[in-house]
Amino acid sequence: MEGGERDVTEASQPERVALVTGGSRGIGRAVCLALAARGVAVAVNYVHGEEAARGVVHRIEEAGGRALAVGGDVADASRADRLIQDVVQAFGRLDILVNNAGITRDTLLLRMKEDDWDAVMNTNLKGAFHCIRAAVRPMMKQRYGRIVNITSVVALLGNPGQANYAAAKAGLIGLTKTAAREFASRGITVNAVAPGLIDTDMTAAMAEEAVRALQAQIPLGRAGRPEDVAEAVCFLASEAAGYITGHVLHVDGGMAM
Ligand code: NAP
Repeated sequence: MEGGERDVTEASQPERVALVTGGSRGIGRAVCLALAARGVAVAVNYVHGEEAARGVVHRIEEAGGRALAVGGDVADASRADRLIQDVVQAFGRLDILVNNAGITRDTLLLRMKEDDWDAVMNTNLKGAFHCIRAAVRPMMKQRYGRIVNITSVVALLGNPGQANYAAAKAGLIGLTKTAAREFASRGITVNAVAPGLIDTDMTAAMAEEAVRALQAQIPLGRAGRPEDVAEAVCFLASEAAGYITGHVLHVDGGMAM
């Protein structure tokens, strides 16, 4: 065998286990289904949507995969710790963490209440911090891990009415790069995916005019599908992406090039 080639027997890895926060709907749901289609056992996290999360689990199990619905608010540090423990207890390990849970509380900065700021920060940024801090413990023991944080194009471009959201998503990029440096020697990669305008409940709640204005900025001329984002996440979560860390991968139809 040549130096760089791998024996096919080496390719048989243990079953990988993933936790997807906010896996009950939208992008998170698509990530759960795409990871499961690649043979990954998936913990589907939700905060309110238990029925929807169970629906995702059911769909994975019907296709012959392994999945589990795990409730818990990632903004709550002790709940996030317990979430990771539940996953490790159920599946015996944790290889992939996708920090996808996110909310919006849009309004112009002058009218933004402290509550709007805190709620978005606590879920979108602090939630990821909580989950990373808890997840790297089992990952360090395994000397293997893949963390993918879902940020947004608005972290790079800004967006009127989204000061809280853009700040949280920009913070997530700093968190990604720092964690990438801190955990690289432990075999853990940390990357971010920055979606543009994607068709989900989150964008369905936006004013039509705002959606049209965003669409006009997309060179590929259309909103993305959750599956478009899921493919990028699956790549960064795969063994094949082992030499990529601290990267921000845009999935935005060219919006923020
Ligand atoms: P979505 O359809 O509104 O779904 C949000 C998901 O997050 C749901 O599963 C929800 O769970 C979960 N969630 C919310 N708060 C949570 C908390 N505190 N703890 C645990 N789970 C929580 O949103 P989406 O459009 O799929 O967005 C997914 C991610 O992509 C978000 O981080 C978002 O900021 C980002 N993103 C979206 C777009 C877009 O255009 N859609 C663009 C860029 C980035 P429940 O079902 O239990 O409520």
